[in-house]
Amino acid sequence: MAAVLVVEDDQFVRSALIRHLTDASHTVRSVGTALEALREVAHVRFDLVILDLGLPDLDGSEALKMLRGITDVPVIVATARDDEREIVRLLNAGADDYLTKPFSVEHLSARMAAVLRRARPAAGAVPPSTVLRVGGLAIDPLRREAELDGVRLDLTRREFDLLAFLAGRPGVVVARKELLAEVWQQSYGDDQTIDVHLSWLRRKLGETAARPRYLHTLRGVGVKLEPPRAERTP
Ligand code: CA
Repeated sequence: MAAVLVVEDDQFVRSALIRHLTDASHTVRSVGTALEALREVAHVRFDLVILDLGLPDLDGSEALKMLRGITDVPVIVATARDDEREIVRLLNAGADDYLTKPFSVEHLSARMAAVLRRARPAAGAVPPSTVLRVGGLAIDPLRREAELDGVRLDLTRREFDLLAFLAGRPGVVVARKELLAEVWQQSYGDDQTIDVHLSWLRRKLGETAARPRYLHTLRGVGVKLEPPRAERTP
């Protein structure tokens, strides 16, 4: 069972998808334009997005890029083009998988199951849950839940991974390169990706770069997470 956002402008394809996904006991929301999709993912947390690349308002890869700017939700792109270079480009642009239209519901189900499996590691693959506590933060890596002062934080997958990684080594300055490798599983990339996610995380923690509480950026060095000064035990 997953919360799925279907982004598809073709009424016929859209209702077929909704019917199939609902039958498979997923919860579905659907929109017909990229801008509506962006608005949805900014407000609702989905487990998966199925993104048609031929939308009326934005080019599909443009839509994907903008989507990636706000969320790490797994995205399966549905493309009419069976063009290998285009598909490689989309996967590089952040798509988790793709489907070439027309596709069967069986094919869609199989791709969805694989993407969801990757996004949510199997319970057996994760070590027994140890809740990480740093000041008022409590992070449960197994349940993938984080709280600040008892209030549940609504984090994206990447924000959660970033927070959990830093909370696992409180007070330790982690280099950007290490964050890229450990959280993004990339050996290279630009610092902006990290900075953007850090600023979102910061906002959700209710702090700013100018007045940090938990998240401290050391220019040119890296980032560390530690309890706010007043809450530190002597
Ligand atoms: Ca279309």
